[in-house]
Amino acid sequence: MPRDLLKVRLNEIPDRGLDVHFAPQDQRYAQMLAEVADGDGATGEARVRLELWPSRVDLSGSMSSRLPQHCSRCLEPFDLSIEREFTQVLMRTAAPEPELAADGELELNLRDLDKTQLVGDVVDLGEILREELLLALPPKMLCREDCQGICPGCGAELNSEPCTCQPETDPRWDILKQLKLDS
Ligand SMILES: [Zn+2]
Ligand SMILES: [Zn+2]
Repeated sequence: MPRDLLKVRLNEIPDRGLDVHFAPQDQRYAQMLAEVADGDGATGEARVRLELWPSRVDLSGSMSSRLPQHCSRCLEPFDLSIEREFTQVLMRTAAPEPELAADGELELNLRDLDKTQLVGDVVDLGEILREELLLALPPKMLCREDCQGICPGCGAELNSEPCTCQPETDPRWDILKQLKLDS
């Protein structure tokens, strides 16, 4: 059975660092992509470098993938391509207890927000890559920036067919027309 690359023990990281490559045919990685995709056929690969320090683990990586999705405007399926580079710092030493300020508010140290506490001696690359993938998703799923979507009036798919809605007329203009004809 192939070793699960998604979980790396700290004692497996040599002094020179560890490079992990998730090939497109890596089943567990493909399965993780499939969970984020909306449809079959997600593919991609990723590289992660881990460096072990006495107090922390530095991660740097890149991922590229194609994820089947559905456009939120025209509802058509399309392949979303994602390229992302990332770095993360996992702290190994216990974080100091958050201090309660005088007014009872929890004080957050802003410098620590991009650091994650590592629990135990296993780095879960699956979690980290999933998190990075979700961060890379666009706020709106669009097949293309200028997708015209579907007309709410006639239901025409505006990328490929014209809207057949009747132009809206304001009844007040009809009265004006009437007045003109009468005079
Ligand atoms: Zn679309
Ligand atoms: Zn229409």
